[in-house]
Amino acid sequence: MPIDVALDAADAAFGQNVDRLIRLVRIPSCSFPGFDPAHVQTSAEDTAAWLREAGYPEVRLIRFPADNPLPYVLARDHRAGPAAPTVLLYAHHDVQPPLRQEVWKTPPYEPTRIGDRLYARGAADDKAGIAVHCAAAAAWNATHGRPPVNLTVLIEGEEEIGSPHMAAFLAAHAAELACDATVIADLGNVDTGLPSLTTSLRGLVKIEIELRALRSPLHSGMWGGAVPDVAQALCKLLAGLTDADGRLAIPGLFDQVRRPEPETLRAWAGIPHDAARLAEQAGVLSGRMETDPATLFRHVWREPSLSINAIQCGLRGQTGNVLMDCAWATLGIRIVPDQDPPTVMRLLCDHLRRHAPAGMELSITERSCSPAWGCATDHPVFAHAKQALRIGYGTDAVEMGCGASIPFVGDLCEVLNVPALLIGVEDPPCGAHAENESVHLGDLRKAIRSEIALFGLMAGLPTPAC
Ligand SMILES: [Zn+2]
Repeated sequence: MPIDVALDAADAAFGQNVDRLIRLVRIPSCSFPGFDPAHVQTSAEDTAAWLREAGYPEVRLIRFPADNPLPYVLARDHRAGPAAPTVLLYAHHDVQPPLRQEVWKTPPYEPTRIGDRLYARGAADDKAGIAVHCAAAAAWNATHGRPPVNLTVLIEGEEEIGSPHMAAFLAAHAAELACDATVIADLGNVDTGLPSLTTSLRGLVKIEIELRALRSPLHSGMWGGAVPDVAQALCKLLAGLTDADGRLAIPGLFDQVRRPEPETLRAWAGIPHDAARLAEQAGVLSGRMETDPATLFRHVWREPSLSINAIQCGLRGQTGNVLMDCAWATLGIRIVPDQDPPTVMRLLCDHLRRHAPAGMELSITERSCSPAWGCATDHPVFAHAKQALRIGYGTDAVEMGCGASIPFVGDLCEVLNVPALLIGVEDPPCGAHAENESVHLGDLRKAIRSEIALFGLMAGLPTPAC
């Protein structure tokens, strides 16, 4: 079963697969509350149809729990037989909300090709992952009658709202999902065209706080100078969480943070890094970005960071000359693999309570306390993955961290007790979770080629000459 025949077949069928992806991204399958879940049902059905077209013999929708309107799609092709390894392929078919319509340069659910990129909500995150799992299997089926390994595919319908049922789903379906390795195609590459394997994810400790100083708002002319200003107090309280450089300054918070090993720092220093281009891609107005790649990657992959997500005090557009009664904020700390989420939560809340102004009431509500994730890469499947990425992209793969959180990855590795390959086609300009999301079609083609090669290498087939 030569691998290169399947690679050629995937290249020949790439146009059809892009057309198929275009059909799927037209479905506005946002899983957020307030959006019609019927679209998520439709996208599950269309995903199932694509998996059947790709040749998966068993495909079904699963509502879990039974009244959940955001279905999973499960597909299996175990024709390679019990002697062959089994791979579990993951992606999700739900998408983020479109956000501000007026900021989109093309309509979010009207897929539009501009140059090498396809623009639409979900084009990269994560319907591209579905495209990879369908196109890779289809190429093997078209050329060899079946894939060289057993495949189980799990496409989730509620990843963007935090996979609330995933842990229970995994526990309930553990036997059916048993595998030797899992491929989670929901990540990305350090840069366009540079294949990357993600080996760590940050966790998230998130809270809402409300600071109250008065029973009700007061006239600032009559009372200003005599009573406390809660907005100023909240700003000072939040500012005290970080130092002048914006690094977290909560005592004890870095005690559990391990410095990256010298070889890791050396590997990061070798990742191509253009600070000005990255600042441009991120839309940073100052144009400034850390110029040393090892320092930059340490900050976003292996150190905790604070973000204030929202602050409210008074109402924009209805602001009188008042001193407000209370002020509110939601904030989160992205935590790294060695940190214990409850400990970080305690340190954060204790720090805020200790520094809250005397005489004001501070209330804190916990919103999230999820762990980070990291993996060793000594399992043989990582060597196969790196070789497969080199075959697919034509260049050596790098190991990267991811500053974001995917809470179910830890559950998945634990329940199934297997290594996880975190890959994907999101790149710095892809705009996942923002307006103008897009996927680079060249990288999509390369990701499909990589997955085809991975199946072949895991089955022990010879490496193609390319
Ligand atoms: Zn995603």
